[in-house]
Amino acid sequence: MEEFGIGRPSTYSKTITTVLDRKYVEKEGKNLLITDLGKLVTNMLEENFNEIVDVSFTAGMESKLDDVEIGEKDWVRLLKDFYPGFHDKIKQADANIEKVKIEDVKTGEICPDCGGELVIKDGRNGKFIACSNYPECKYTRNIEVQAKGKCPLCGSGLLIKKTIKNHRTFYVCDKKGNDPECKFISWDIPVEGKKCETCGSYMVLHRFRGKMYPRCGNEDCPSRKTRKKSDSDSKD
Ligand SMILES: [Zn+2]
Ligand SMILES: [Zn+2]
Ligand SMILES: [Zn+2]
Repeated sequence: MEEFGIGRPSTYSKTITTVLDRKYVEKEGKNLLITDLGKLVTNMLEENFNEIVDVSFTAGMESKLDDVEIGEKDWVRLLKDFYPGFHDKIKQADANIEKVKIEDVKTGEICPDCGGELVIKDGRNGKFIACSNYPECKYTRNIEVQAKGKCPLCGSGLLIKKTIKNHRTFYVCDKKGNDPECKFISWDIPVEGKKCETCGSYMVLHRFRGKMYPRCGNEDCPSRKTRKKSDSDSKD
């Protein structure tokens, strides 16, 4: 936003919270990933309001509003130039856009209990897999998705992010259990391309009291030992 000259520093965080709340994006570590709903809404806006969702429109409107603020532009005139066309667009879009119901995403898998179709539900505790025959069939399962980046341990496996109850997530290498096996598993978010300065192992982001801290992914690394030791020293 800063790069395109839209919004103000004070509006950045509000913008992020809004798109998160509306489930247009999801957080993964430091990154925001667009959701299917986000893509759908973006396409719909681009199809129907292409001039308005254009960044140059936003930047232009902001500078016109600045001109109003310093008294160089008449706000009535500004609205008269903008509003009639916008109103028509809304009427047009209202007639064109079909009501979109967000369908449960089909997984293509068959329910092991009843043979029905399995879908992805978005519940209060995050996404999970459930049977489309709910409530007759109560089958549910935790979700597994492919995370960004490669396994930091073997460098070639794909990362699978598993979500269990209460949003707790962990990462495993998709080569776990395969031959040759990779034993990568981590509660912490793997960081791509960074190595521990002490032992050369991969790095992770550890969440503690709502903040993320980089640390070595190797539990036996001296850089983690010193910390643990002093923790236990103070307890003993
Ligand atoms: Zn079922
Ligand atoms: Zn691996
Ligand atoms: Zn280390």
